[in-house]
Amino acid sequence: MATKLEYIWLDGYKPTQSLRSKTKIVDDFGGTLGECPDWSFDGSSTEQAPGGSSDCILKPVFICPDPQRKSAFLVMCEVLDSSGQPHESNGRALIEDDDNDFWFGFEQEYFLWDPKTNKPLGFPAGGYPGPQGPYYCSVGANNAFGREIIEEHLDVCLDAGLNVEGINAEVAAGQWEFQIFAKGAKEAGDQIWVARYLLERIGESYGVAINWHCKPLGQLDWNGSGMHANFSNTTLRTAASQETYTKILEAFRPPEVVKAHIAVYGADNEQRLTGKHETASINDYSYGVSDRGASIRIPLYTVQKGWSGYLEDRRPNSAADPYKVAAVIIKTVKSAQL
Ligand code: ADP
Ligand code: MN
Ligand code: MN
Ligand code: MN
Ligand code: MN
Repeated sequence: MATKLEYIWLDGYKPTQSLRSKTKIVDDFGGTLGECPDWSFDGSSTEQAPGGSSDCILKPVFICPDPQRKSAFLVMCEVLDSSGQPHESNGRALIEDDDNDFWFGFEQEYFLWDPKTNKPLGFPAGGYPGPQGPYYCSVGANNAFGREIIEEHLDVCLDAGLNVEGINAEVAAGQWEFQIFAKGAKEAGDQIWVARYLLERIGESYGVAINWHCKPLGQLDWNGSGMHANFSNTTLRTAASQETYTKILEAFRPPEVVKAHIAVYGADNEQRLTGKHETASINDYSYGVSDRGASIRIPLYTVQKGWSGYLEDRRPNSAADPYKVAAVIIKTVKSAQL
C-alpha cells in the first residue's frame, strides 16, 4: 500500500526561517524513522544553496502520524549541505543534549490573522476592538475569536502524538497559546515545529494565516507574542539549593552571554522586550521569584519544592527557532561554575 510521507524542513531565510514541506510516496512502510530515506531538495529556492550547486539533503529526525491525511506520516528533517554536513541554517545540529537530560516546555503564542483585512481575527476591518482585558482565557463570541481553528489544532496535535500540555486564549484579541513539553531538547524543538506546521495547514482550510511576529500590532497597547522557554536538567530538578540556582542564573548575566541569547530569541524582539506588557527590557538581565517582569522567572513551584524544579526564560519570542533557543540555554547552563 502507498504511504504519504510529508518531509518538513526549515528554509534559509533570515532573520526568520519558515517551514517548507513536500510529499514522498513509499510502499510497504512500517511507520518507523529508520525506514525514511534521506531525500533532497532545491536549496536555491529556499536561500540554502546557489543555483549552480543547488542540492541540499533532508535527513529525517522525527516521525509521527499525519492525522489529517489517509495513510500518512509527518517527517521532520534536518537540512545537510551537499557534503553531508549540517547546513548553517540547521539549528537542531547545535543542540548539545545527547542524553536528553534537558527538559523543555515551550509556551507558543501567536495571532490568528485575517489576510483580507491584514488584522487579527476579532478586529473590525476599520479601527480596533475594545482594549485588552476581557480576551485572556475568555469565552463567548464578543471576546474569543477562532476557537474552531485552535480546537481542531489541539485534536490534530494530540492525534499525532505531540505532547501538548494545554492551550489558552491570550491577552490580545485573536491571540492564542499552546504549550508543548518534552524530555530532550531536540524532541521539544521537533514537536514545536510539527505543531506549528499543523497550525499553518489547518489555517489554510479556514483562509486564516498564522502571524508569528512578536509584535504584529506595533507599539499600540496590545501584547506581543512570546515563546517562554521553561527548562530544567538533572541539576536544576534536584538541586535543593538556592545557591546552585543563583550560580546558574548568574551564568546568564555577562553582556556577551545576553547578546548570544538575544541573537537567537527571535527577530524584532526589541519591539516586544520593552519593560512593559509583562516583559523585561531587552538591554537588561534580571531574575526573580514569580517575577513576570524579569528576564528569567523562578517559578514559585521551584521555591516551594525547596529550590528544585525549573526556570522560565521569558525572552524568546513567538518567531524564535526552539532548536536555537534550546541550544544556547543548554550552553549557558552547562557553563555555570557549580
Ligand atoms: P505560565 O503561563 O504560568 O508561564 P504555563 O503553564 O503556560 O505557565 O507553562 C509552563 C510550562 O512549564 C509548561 O509547558 C510545562 O511543561 C513546563 N514545565 C513544567 N515543569 C518543567 C520542568 N521540570 N522542566 C521544564 N519545563 C517544565
Ligand atoms: Mn522536480
Ligand atoms: Mn502560559
Ligand atoms: Mn502566554
Ligand atoms: Mn510563561
